Amino acid sequence: MDPVDLCAELIRFDTTNWGEGKSEGEREAAEYLAGLLTSAGYEPVILGPTPERASTVVRVPGLDRTLPALLIHAHLDVVPAEPAQWSLDPFAGEIRDGYVWGRGASDMKDMVAMTFSTLLRWAEDGVRPRRDVVVAFVADEEDKGEYGALWLAAEHPELFDGVEAAIGESGGVAQFLTAEDGSEVRLYPVAAAERGTLHMRLTATGTSGHGSRPNPDNAVTHLIGALHRVSEYAWPIVLTPTVRAYLQQTTAALGFPADLTTDAGVEAAVDRLGDAGTVARTTIRCSATPTVLDAGYKVNVIPGTASADLDVRCLPGTEEETLAVIDGLLGGRVTRTFLSHQPPVQAPVDSHWFDAMKAALLRHDPAAVVVPRCMGGGTDAKAFAPLGIDCYGFSPQGADPEGRTSDGVHGVDERVPVESLRSGQRILQDFLEQV
Ligand SMILES: [Zn+2]
Repeated sequence: MDPVDLCAELIRFDTTNWGEGKSEGEREAAEYLAGLLTSAGYEPVILGPTPERASTVVRVPGLDRTLPALLIHAHLDVVPAEPAQWSLDPFAGEIRDGYVWGRGASDMKDMVAMTFSTLLRWAEDGVRPRRDVVVAFVADEEDKGEYGALWLAAEHPELFDGVEAAIGESGGVAQFLTAEDGSEVRLYPVAAAERGTLHMRLTATGTSGHGSRPNPDNAVTHLIGALHRVSEYAWPIVLTPTVRAYLQQTTAALGFPADLTTDAGVEAAVDRLGDAGTVARTTIRCSATPTVLDAGYKVNVIPGTASADLDVRCLPGTEEETLAVIDGLLGGRVTRTFLSHQPPVQAPVDSHWFDAMKAALLRHDPAAVVVPRCMGGGTDAKAFAPLGIDCYGFSPQGADPEGRTSDGVHGVDERVPVESLRSGQRILQDFLEQV
């Protein structure tokens, strides 16, 4: 089955995830995939904490079952779309002008389709991969994963027995850059790390009273003071192995020197990288961003409590230190509780897994510059890494010959180039057969 038709078909299943457990559900999409897999001779299972929130998992037995297995995970849910802002129906799955259009086209029903058509091709041609390949099409990535990857990892860890490495969202897609000498560089970053997600609720308590009689123990004031200190804090530069490798290899490919021994040198390198510096900029330090505020109910009443949500992201190896810094900044009048606590992820860059991804990209594009990168946010890798799995972001796509690129992720008119989907499927299949 052509990954292009399949991607369009998958878009027609509205799997909108509104967050906090509110969702259109992934069940129909999961059943559709499981049905086709069963017809092709596989033995998929559909699992989930509720009937609506379903994931499809299948293990493809490898030729050598003593080899460590590989997991491919891709999510079935999508973020909401506002149809009025789109130039077409976000759930129609239209194919035109060289693109597949619709919500999920590039996040990440494209990867679901590429993986799925590889499985169908294997079944048709009687091909088996060298090692066991476990495929998980999961629910709920666009929220916390509690109905998808996290639930599967907690309730059905046996599905992932023998899995040593995983590939998933974000990585292996060509980025076009211009080198110092004017030549074109095609950079293919592969995710090998993610900052941790430490979402927390801050609560200040004080003495409530009449607004006309100010008192020094005001919860709102305590909270504002803490948020101000957190916002003003200058997080130091920390170069993790992945980010260091990214900066070294990318600056070398673009042909300019980088001095990574000083903060100023790191900042200068990131600036000079231009577009390639965007992700690097968020991964050379930790961050803490206030996002939600909640206090008070009447202008003349001092409330007894005030709260705020803080989105903290910490680099691999810095979690304890980051929390200690936050606690110091909050001071004695503000407490914190976790809304979500997902430690950072880091997989080795010098591994045969990484080498195999690089080799597959180079077979497709001999001029490819394949570099490891750290993600600023997070994916379902955070759910699978605690099972002892080395998680990489690798959803490969080749360049569109006419220069089209994926666009509209989490925004309007989301689309993926038809040719990138087709070449991506070939790169993925090649990688899975060689690794
Ligand atoms: Zn996604």
